[in-house]
Amino acid sequence: MSAEEIDQPPEQRREALKQVLEQVQHCVRCQELAETRKNVVFGAGNANADLMFVGEAPGASEDERGLPFVGRAGKLLETLLEEIGLARKDVFIANTLKCRPPGNRDPLPVEIENCHEYLYRQVELIQPRVICSLGNFSTKLLRDDPTGITRLHGKPEELTLGRRTVRLYPIFHPAAALYTPRMLETLREDFSRLPELLALPEPLQPRVDAEDELPEESPADLVPGEHAQTARGEQQTAAADQLGLF
Ligand code: URA
Repeated sequence: MSAEEIDQPPEQRREALKQVLEQVQHCVRCQELAETRKNVVFGAGNANADLMFVGEAPGASEDERGLPFVGRAGKLLETLLEEIGLARKDVFIANTLKCRPPGNRDPLPVEIENCHEYLYRQVELIQPRVICSLGNFSTKLLRDDPTGITRLHGKPEELTLGRRTVRLYPIFHPAAALYTPRMLETLREDFSRLPELLALPEPLQPRVDAEDELPEESPADLVPGEHAQTARGEQQTAAADQLGLF
């Protein structure tokens, strides 16, 4: 991400996010996932959100509809959002993996490695102040550390991801709270602290000097073996609007 991109107005960053969507929709980095998915689940919501959620991976309902958190865990997430005065349209919801692991198995380390670049790009372009990692997979990825969610939930920390410093706020995954009332109570308690976190001033951002700018990513860098088909460009960038993603 360049210094100019950081300063871009929301509409331009949204356009750039549509380009990432186009790349992800044709991603074949994980052969098994690419062959078995019905839809890529890129993420959805407000492309300029202050609050972003990062779950684990799409399940069957998400794969079917191409939208994140539309099953039972998603209903709970919506309820918890409503309880703090927010709706899905106010936040951006994404996942560690953009494709459903067959049979809802856990994401494999190689799949997380293949997919993490897309998530980081989403963070750079959406520029949230707070990222809520839902459960172990996204928490471990974003902190680059194996410490589990049981120790970390409810403890905000500042974290620099690429060119962006955010407040990371790990919480339990709503799916884990569906059947465990005590966990639901903890999740609700942790959720109730979100408004105060969002009210804090934006974390100090790292300085970006022209000379330490990262080389621009080409679509070929992002999707090995799959070059962006620019002839489809306009059609593809309309996809976000058509699907009502962001
Ligand atoms: N669980 C997740 O982690 N992500 C979804 O999108 C749905 C369920």
